[in-house]
Amino acid sequence: MISAVLPTYNRAPLAFVAGEGSWLTAEDGSRYLDLGAGIAVNALGHANPALVEVISAQAAKLWHVSNLYRIPEQERLAEKLVEATFADTVFFTNSGTEAAELSIKMVRKYWSEKGQPDRIEILCFEGAFHGRSTGAIAAAGSEKMTKGYGPLMPGFRQLPFGDHEALRAAISEKTAAVMLEPVQGEGGIRVLPDVCLKGLRDACDAVGALLVFDEVQCGMGRTGRLFAHEWAGIEPDIMMVAKGIGGGFPLGAVLAKKAAAAAMTAGTHGSTYGGNPLGCAVGAKVMEIVADPAFLAEVNRKAALFRQKLEGLVAAHPQVFEEVRGAGLMLGLKCRAPNADLVKAAYGQHLLTVPAADNVVRLLPALNIPDEDIAEAVARLDRAAGTLDADAA
Ligand SMILES: *Cc1c(COP(=O)(O)O)cnc(C)c1O
Repeated sequence: MISAVLPTYNRAPLAFVAGEGSWLTAEDGSRYLDLGAGIAVNALGHANPALVEVISAQAAKLWHVSNLYRIPEQERLAEKLVEATFADTVFFTNSGTEAAELSIKMVRKYWSEKGQPDRIEILCFEGAFHGRSTGAIAAAGSEKMTKGYGPLMPGFRQLPFGDHEALRAAISEKTAAVMLEPVQGEGGIRVLPDVCLKGLRDACDAVGALLVFDEVQCGMGRTGRLFAHEWAGIEPDIMMVAKGIGGGFPLGAVLAKKAAAAAMTAGTHGSTYGGNPLGCAVGAKVMEIVADPAFLAEVNRKAALFRQKLEGLVAAHPQVFEEVRGAGLMLGLKCRAPNADLVKAAYGQHLLTVPAADNVVRLLPALNIPDEDIAEAVARLDRAAGTLDADAA
C-alpha cells in the first residue's frame, strides 16, 4: 500500500484550516502560535489584509497569460527589485529550486559565451541547501539529498563551511563561480560572518569568478536588511530569491548584474508560469511593505527583543539548549537535547517551530509578529523545554 499522497514527508499529525497573523487554527478549533511561517514564506503573517486585497483584486482581473506577452505586473516587480538591490535584471520563477537552476545555467552560459565552456566548477559549502532538482542536489552534495540519484551533475565541489584556507586552496582561474547562502537555513542557521563574505568577494574578483548568493531563506527582510549580504557591504553577481517574496504565493526570482546575465538572450531560458500576473501583483505588494526602511527598523527591533528573551531561555535550560544563533528574525536554538524532541514538546504547547541540521530548532516568525506574540512564544518554549528538563534530570 502507498498513500494517495507520495509519502516523501515525515508529517506532524496536525492540519490547519485557517490563519491570522502569527496564529493558525487547527481542525479541532485549537490555536497554534506559528514560529515557522511556512518555512520563512509567510513573511507578513497569515491572511495579511493588504495581501488578501491585492490577490483578490488581481484574481478577479487576470491570473495567467504566459511569457509570450508583456506582463506589466512582472515589469513593475522587476523594476522594484532592480531599484532596491545590486541587480540590473530579474527572471521570475515559481520556487527557490528553479531559481537555483537558472543561477547554475547562467554561470555556465556566462563562461561558454566567454569562450571558456570548460570553466564549469562551482564551489559550494558543506551544509548548503539549494533545492531538490538534480542540479541543486549536486550543488549541495550531501549524502542525505543525493543518495540513489546518481550519476550527479558534474561541476560542483563542496568546501568546509567558513574555512578560509580551503577556499584559498580551491579557488583558481578555473573556478566558474562560488555559490552560497550568506546564512545557511536548512544547514542549521549558520551565519557566515561579514568578513568572510567580503573575503569571498575579493577571492572571486581576483580570479574573475562569479559570486552567487542564495538568499531564498535569508532574504526579503529576514535578517533585518532587505537582503542579508547588505550587512557585509558587498554585492553578488547573481542572487536567488524565493520563499518570503511571495508572502505565501509560490514566487521566486533570479537577480543579476548586467555583465553576469549578458549571455541570457531570447530563447536561452523560460518558464510557463514564472512571473505570472497573480504572483507578481502579490510580490510587488510584499516588496513595497518589506523594503520600507521603517518596516526593516521594526524587524531589527523585534529581533533584538526576541534574541534577548531567547538568551534568557537558554540560560534557564542549560540541559536542553546550547546557544542562540542567527541574524534578525532568522533564529536558531542549538540544542543539547535532540531537536526533534523540542519540536515535539513545542507542539504540545501549541507552538510551531522548524527543525534544521546541526541539531538546531529554527524560529522563523512572520516579520511583523507582534511583541506580545514574541513574549508568548518564549513562554511556550520555556514550558516545552521544562518538559525536557524533567526527562534529562
Ligand atoms: C527553501 C530553499 C531553497 C529551495 O526553495 P524551494 O522553493 O523549496 O524550491 C533553496 N535555497 C534555500 C536557501 C532555501 O532555503
